[in-house]
Amino acid sequence: MSSPEPQASSTLAIYLRLLTYVRPYIGLFLLSIVGFLIFASTQPMLAYILKYFVDGLSNPEASLFPANDYLPDLPLLQAVPLLIVLIAVWQGVGSYLGNFFLARVSLGLVHDLRVVLFNKLLVLPNRYFDNHSSGHLISRITFNVTMVTGAATDAIKVVIREGMTVVFLFASLLWMNWKLTLVMVAILPLIGLMVSSASKKFRKQSKQIQVAMGDVTHVASETIQGYRVVRSFGGENYEQARFQSASQSNTDKQLRMVKTGAVYTPTLQLVTYSALALVMFLVLFLRGDSSAGDLVAYITMAGLLPKPIRQLSEVSSTIQKGVAGAESIFEQLDEPSEVDHGSVELERVSGRLEVRNLSFQYPDTEQPVLHDISFVAEPGQMVALVGRSGSGKSTLASLVPRFYHHEQGQILLDGVDVEEYSLRNLRRHIALVTQQVTLFNDTVANNIAYGDLAGAPLAEVQLASAAAYADEFIVKMPQAYQTLVGENGVLLSGGQRQRLAIARALLKNAPVLILDEATSALDTESEQHIQAALDKVMQGRTTLVIAHRLSTIEKADLILVMDQGRIVERGSHAELLAQNGYYSRLHSRQFADADEEVAVEINA
Ligand code: ATP
Ligand code: MG
Repeated sequence: MSSPEPQASSTLAIYLRLLTYVRPYIGLFLLSIVGFLIFASTQPMLAYILKYFVDGLSNPEASLFPANDYLPDLPLLQAVPLLIVLIAVWQGVGSYLGNFFLARVSLGLVHDLRVVLFNKLLVLPNRYFDNHSSGHLISRITFNVTMVTGAATDAIKVVIREGMTVVFLFASLLWMNWKLTLVMVAILPLIGLMVSSASKKFRKQSKQIQVAMGDVTHVASETIQGYRVVRSFGGENYEQARFQSASQSNTDKQLRMVKTGAVYTPTLQLVTYSALALVMFLVLFLRGDSSAGDLVAYITMAGLLPKPIRQLSEVSSTIQKGVAGAESIFEQLDEPSEVDHGSVELERVSGRLEVRNLSFQYPDTEQPVLHDISFVAEPGQMVALVGRSGSGKSTLASLVPRFYHHEQGQILLDGVDVEEYSLRNLRRHIALVTQQVTLFNDTVANNIAYGDLAGAPLAEVQLASAAAYADEFIVKMPQAYQTLVGENGVLLSGGQRQRLAIARALLKNAPVLILDEATSALDTESEQHIQAALDKVMQGRTTLVIAHRLSTIEKADLILVMDQGRIVERGSHAELLAQNGYYSRLHSRQFADADEEVAVEINA
């Protein structure tokens, strides 16, 4: 997008790149082309039959191959009907080959594109998801892909079938009367001009349609996921209006595109028929010595021309839609994947985590979020991060598994910079329990044994669940470990979901645990359960915990108090209280009226 000019050439480049996806299907594709060639060849044949029909009308005795030594003398009376049926059979064979094999190519292509797009999602950096709405990403996989295959296959079908029809018809016309035919050729530049001006419009409009489609998916998925908030806050009218306008804008854009086509097609039709009119005039005017059959066949063939020409010209809209879709698909495919240049792969680390002078700023933002953070967590130690909301705790935690790339400072795991590990290996050493628990619409067991852990024996899953105090509620569920949890675990309570997440982290048995405690308040009992589960999880592991619970914080070996991206105080609970500074103020403010059992969030 650096220079404004290469529109045409980049269209070609995009199209050619798209065709590389057709390459694996080249055999099937050629077969379908043969089919369309067969189909196209029948058009002039049908017109030519008319010649015999008209000649037969004026001379019923005539035969198909007069004065011929080799071929049988077939009277027109039988030959014409017979030939028509034969041509129809021939056309049917072509039509079958063409349509069926092309569909196989195009469906294969849809599948392939969807899969590469999806696979790309798995390696795109977190940043990409921050900047793109899930609705638009989903719509790319479901909608844009089908647009693209239209261009890669349907368009080619028309180009070949109708293009060859035009070629065959033209050749027959030239052969029958080249002078008249050249009159028709004169309109070609005019057609070319119209096609290219319409193409530009089609492409622009098609891009808008795809974006609008993304908007529709986006609004719908937000409402579906957030239906509880929508209902409890009376967002119905707002969402209704939002969806209405997204859908309306989509409709308007589609309609605009249809309108372009609806004006363009008849205009083109007018041009071609005018040329035909001129030819008819010339035929009638300078009849010459051709037979009536010849002239009828000629005019019929000429009359067959406008339709394929129109279809050929309409193909440009299909192609432009596809190119617009392909452009967005390739854009996503060309996004750089997560940086993964590290090569260190360790079987197991002891879990010494050291952060040195770490500063961080989210890409494309103004303000640094972390300033000069340094601390050490020895193997098995627990470091608690506390501080006001937005002080950078989750950000710090997300830098350890390299969800974002930091430029300044170092994060060392067992003395090796995290950048030097291969991503997969690094993340194997870290178990993560995030602020918002993510569960998949699968069984309890599969949710605990997820990813690399898939296939873990049920006994181990049960052990992990028991340690996470999840076992007790799981066994009460209708199908115990085989119970489906619903999308994102909606069928579970908040505390149950957290315990599942903890069980998952326990099963992973990684030396480093990062725990972003959920801030949601829990009742005393789940609170105790989760605390007990956490205590288990933390045993023998280096734990970086973003703590909201007093009971968690008090036990920490080291408490880091963060404010606006800086560590403002550090020490143990007792030390920090004695300092009578930021922490003790935070503590007294937050826990002043907390009774002993119910721990309350420290992060306001
Ligand atoms: P809380 O206790 O509420 O979870 P936190 O301490 O975890 O807060 P962070 O999530 O680390 O806070 O956010 C720190 C700052 O970074 C905030 O000002 C936030 O606006 C910003 N921030 C967080 N995530 C992103 C992101 N993906 N892109 C840009 N800025 C971000
Ligand atoms: Mg946070």
